Amino acid sequence: MGHLTGQTAVITGGGTGIGLAIARRLATDGANCVLMGRNLERLETGAASIPRARAIQCDVTDAASVATAFDAARAGGAVTILVNNAGIASSAPFHRMSEEEFLRIQDVNVTGVFRCTRAVTNDLRAADSGRLINISSIAGLSGGPYISHYCASKHAVIGMTRALAAEWAKTNTTVNAICPGYVRTEMAEGAIRTIIEKTGANRDQAIAELAKSNPQGRLLEVEEVAEIAGWLCHPDSRSVNGQAIALNGGHSM
Ligand code: NAD
Repeated sequence: MGHLTGQTAVITGGGTGIGLAIARRLATDGANCVLMGRNLERLETGAASIPRARAIQCDVTDAASVATAFDAARAGGAVTILVNNAGIASSAPFHRMSEEEFLRIQDVNVTGVFRCTRAVTNDLRAADSGRLINISSIAGLSGGPYISHYCASKHAVIGMTRALAAEWAKTNTTVNAICPGYVRTEMAEGAIRTIIEKTGANRDQAIAELAKSNPQGRLLEVEEVAEIAGWLCHPDSRSVNGQAIALNGGHSM
């Protein structure tokens, strides 16, 4: 029996990378994890490797899909932990960024967080020990070139986190954001491919370029992010509320 036994935790984008690692971590403390995302086959493969986990298809840009998915998740009991992890990234200099691309990123990274959070707001506000964890980024705390749309979205997530933490402070639910630097996942692979294409660097050089943004000079592993999510879900972490926790090897924010 872990301290999350009997609690239902939904992790969006739970079939891959950071989301899958968080599900694995919360399950070790006893949570019944629901992995949500677009690719059911990938979600089911992930869920099969985690005790008590379920896979439910959900596109966070589609309000009807979110409503159906969260109703299905709630069939296993009130959702008392939500990890808004689904996210997308791309890169372009601002003078070449289309409105369509800007809005595509906001739709997943910001409005998706809004839709999923709204879907479980009643559960979270009534929970004895609820947790809302938003996966932002170091790009939510500082700016970087060629990702103005992504930076805007991740800053917005931190704004929503701080506002909800203040609004729900009298409930038993905390609201926090985790802000990692580059983590070794498919998303970082996309950034590595872009550097190779644009600069002609080889793979090792491209990884070294990303690692430069971390004072420790390395990419993070998914387990490091998952560990912070696990810690935030511990009952003794209930005073940590409205925080944007930077994980990037030494940047002071
Ligand atoms: P990832 O690409 O493996 O995970 C993103 C997940 O989101 C995928 O499972 C994807 O299918 C899902 N997703 C995308 N659009 C969706 C939609 N419309 N509906 C439902 N699911 C959708 O990459 P990751 O690195 O594990 O990213 C997880 C989160 O961490 C993202 O929010 C990302 O912005 C953030 N992040 C990543 C890094 C990094 O370097 N990898 C750094 C900081 C923050």
